Amino acid sequence: MTVLVYCDRCGEPAAEGDHSACATARVLEPPRFCPDCRRRMKVQVVPAGWTATCVEHGVRHS
Ligand SMILES: [Zn+2]
Ligand SMILES: [Zn+2]
Repeated sequence: MTVLVYCDRCGEPAAEGDHSACATARVLEPPRFCPDCRRRMKVQVVPAGWTATCVEHGVRHS
C-alpha cells in the first residue's frame, strides 16, 4: 500500500486538511506534485492518459 505524504494535486500534506476536492479533480486531471517530495512534476498528456516525471522519483503513469 502506498501512503501519500503530499497531495499530488495541491501539494499540501495529505494528512492535513480536506483533499476530497483534489481527489475528485484527480479523476479528470493528471497530478501536479510528487506525492513523495512535493516537487512539481513535469506532466505530459499522452493518448493513454498521462505521465508525470519527478526529477527525484522518476516517472509515474496514469
Ligand atoms: Zn489536495
Ligand atoms: Zn519526487
